[in-house]
Amino acid sequence: MAERLAIQGGYPVRGSKLYYGRQWIDGEDVRAVEETLKSDFITCGPKVEEAERMLEDVTGSKHAVVVSNGTAALHCACLAAGIGEGDEVITTPLTFAASANCALYCGARPVFADVDPETYNIDPASIEAHITERTKAVVAVDFTGQAVKHKEIRELCDRHHLVFIEDAAHAIGTRYDGKPVGSLADMTCFSFHPVKTVTAGEGGAVTTNDDALYQKLVLFHTHGITHDEDLMEEAPHEGPWYYEQIMLGFNYRMTDFQAALLCSQLTKLDHFKKRRQEIVNRYNEAFADIPGIIVQKEIPESDTCRHLYIIRIDPGKLTCTRRQFVDALKAENIQPQIHYVPVYWFPYYRHLGYEKGLCPKAEEIYAGIMSIPLFPRMTDQDVEDVIHAVRKVTDHYRK
Ligand SMILES: *Cc1c(COP(=O)(O)O)cnc(C)c1O
Repeated sequence: MAERLAIQGGYPVRGSKLYYGRQWIDGEDVRAVEETLKSDFITCGPKVEEAERMLEDVTGSKHAVVVSNGTAALHCACLAAGIGEGDEVITTPLTFAASANCALYCGARPVFADVDPETYNIDPASIEAHITERTKAVVAVDFTGQAVKHKEIRELCDRHHLVFIEDAAHAIGTRYDGKPVGSLADMTCFSFHPVKTVTAGEGGAVTTNDDALYQKLVLFHTHGITHDEDLMEEAPHEGPWYYEQIMLGFNYRMTDFQAALLCSQLTKLDHFKKRRQEIVNRYNEAFADIPGIIVQKEIPESDTCRHLYIIRIDPGKLTCTRRQFVDALKAENIQPQIHYVPVYWFPYYRHLGYEKGLCPKAEEIYAGIMSIPLFPRMTDQDVEDVIHAVRKVTDHYRK
């Protein structure tokens, strides 16, 4: 007989709550931040530069610009791509709103392409179907950390003269065809929010191999101000104090003590990736034996540093709704999260004229998914607790 669910008065699988994600800050991280706080520079100092060199190393890119958060990274990338009024930017609805908001910041219109029903990543065929003469860029999101189909997206961006921006907020440490994410698209954006694989508290970065884009990214993230004489208009200029604002930029800088945390965290990326992969493998193995649970398909080109683990319930095999499944897991003290409500469902987007039904595959996936706990500090027992709870709830609701 199936175990009695906690939501119906049975014993929960575990006593303490387990959340879907959590940062891992150790003594080394704390010491790195403390040292920087006691140094001469708490912003615009050597740690930001060190973090940029480390990111270039990790991503195999020519340039990295560290910024205040992942949203700022996306905004800077869109500005550097020259996106403006009247342009269209194609992205996925299964993402955090920032992947589409960055187009709105620039006066452009986000256009939502549908996703692949098995990988949940943006479908290159749907991108192609949405290209018009106004399309300027694609913002492709490596959803849950799995690399998008770079070969296909690169090819269609080249053919239609589009800028390929990759939102790799989930995907630091992932490789596509052996090459690190960050070295492949025209610009790649990262986030270092605490739920992401490595954290700076708040933080982001853009990487690129293109010198001209790099120069613009640098300007946009610090007011459009330059100290570089080659870029200045007034020459000869007034003296050594002189600098120029040559375009309208923002203050999207990261502090040095955040950068110190980022550097320290980046040294642990390989370790974090390995532990995440171990957990993913264990989940894959366990869920293969649980009818009613569908897992995300991986493309062979992606060597994934997985940020999220998503299970999808199969309505053909279970009697419950997603809501009931989530509530039952919560009662077992496993706290799932939903990634994501399709972006264009939000009232702000509805008021802009977007309607439900735009991307039927994404909406169907959304209806059945939840992210279960995945973070490197989980113990083997935590992982088994999650599997136990999923099995328990599934057994109860099996048709
Ligand atoms: C987290 C996230 C962002 C935004 O990053 P912030 O650092 O929170 O601004 C953008 N896109 C995706 C897909 C994300 O998950």
